[in-house]
Amino acid sequence: MTQRLIELLLFVVLTSVWGLVHASAGWAVAGALAGSVLWSMLDGLRARRFLKWLNTADTSQSPRFSGLWAELFARSRKVIKNQESKTQDSNARLENFLAAIQSSPNGVILLDAEGRIEWVNLTAAHQLGFDPQKDVGQYIQNLVRSPVFKNYFLGSDFNTEIQIGGIGARPSVPSKISVQIHPYGQKRKLMLTRDVTAVELADTMRRDFVANVSHEIRTPLTVLSGFVETLQNIPVKEADRNLYLGMMSQQAQRMQMLVSDLLTLSRLEGSPAPGQGDWISSEDLLSPALEETRALSSVIAQPPHEITPVSELAFSISGNKSELHSAMSNLLSNAVRYTPAGGRIRTGWLLRPDGWAEFFVEDSGPGIAAEHLPRLTERFYRVDRSRSRETGGTGLGLAIVKHVAQRHGGQLNVKSIVGQGSTFSIALPPSRIQLINPTPPTLPAFSGSEQDLA
Ligand code: ADP
Repeated sequence: MTQRLIELLLFVVLTSVWGLVHASAGWAVAGALAGSVLWSMLDGLRARRFLKWLNTADTSQSPRFSGLWAELFARSRKVIKNQESKTQDSNARLENFLAAIQSSPNGVILLDAEGRIEWVNLTAAHQLGFDPQKDVGQYIQNLVRSPVFKNYFLGSDFNTEIQIGGIGARPSVPSKISVQIHPYGQKRKLMLTRDVTAVELADTMRRDFVANVSHEIRTPLTVLSGFVETLQNIPVKEADRNLYLGMMSQQAQRMQMLVSDLLTLSRLEGSPAPGQGDWISSEDLLSPALEETRALSSVIAQPPHEITPVSELAFSISGNKSELHSAMSNLLSNAVRYTPAGGRIRTGWLLRPDGWAEFFVEDSGPGIAAEHLPRLTERFYRVDRSRSRETGGTGLGLAIVKHVAQRHGGQLNVKSIVGQGSTFSIALPPSRIQLINPTPPTLPAFSGSEQDLA
């Protein structure tokens, strides 16, 4: 301030001295006036230069000022720099925040008071088929056409979520989406979307499963209660009584097997996978399974099947003995049950050239058409329904085998030629195999339908 005053005085004194020297006292006053006008104009020019810089607020520029203007410039520059760094900070925070919402597995859409899209994350755009850039500014009702959504959006009850169908013709696009709106601020809305296709699928599977189990249990129960009623109300001959009791025991056994298979499945699903701890030789696994198979064949087939073991005592397997036994028995009993009497069954453990071990069961039965192969491990899926029932099948055997194989890091495979027979096999990874005899036999060549079931 003092500097400005001195500057002004200097101008006034110099111009009045100039007036005095060149003319008279009157000219000195005029000179002083002219000096102060000149100084004001000069100061005005500096103010203009400062304002010009202020308009651009470019802190990288450093125009030269002096006195009060230099101080004004320095302070303004500091304030602007502070402001710039605050803006940068909040921009970075906003970007982080948006990146976090972008990576959310759920869809997020911000709507303005009129229902126009202000921002949409990629998940929501993918789920609802929006273009995350071009559709910003569009009315949400114009893009989500479901009548259920329209009613929900136009109503005012956002306490519950709704479910709408996805746009998905492609399998990667969800077919069921849950939507919930949360109002906030000045009539704005936060819209959250969630892919519930898998939940819906699991629900359908659960419903189907309950329906299937009920169906499987209903028949034996009806037969049983029918016979109980007959025996209670009608006097029957000894021979008929024995016949009825035999049938009742058969139906009770059927239910027992179903319950036992269901329990096995739920145990397999609910327990941790077997570790690498127990090593069992392939022979110890095969012998008891073979014995059971021969016994079963002699009971249900006349003449019994020709059962040939082909494995060599080449390795030990790490896994859960009772699970592996159950899986092998299931494949062997299927071969016996579906192969006509006198048919051929070959079975054993082999080592593949890639180091995997394979337990295989090859039969000369009816074979299975290619279209059934992918569905064989579905619970209660049967190709030959009546044969399965006649021979006490539950429709859960292959589902159990697949689970056991997967729990051991392996796979269940099937090859089949209609009219010639099928080969089911459980392949286990090299990490579960310990060689005892390093010269393994090789697998036979094959030409027919083949399916990896795991
Ligand atoms: P099930 O208790 O009915 O045998 P599985 O899950 O063990 O149930 O088998 C599913 C279906 O696969 C069977 O119902 C049968 O139609 C078919 N299947 C299984 N093994 C064989 C086989 N070795 N030969 C022909 N069909 C088979």
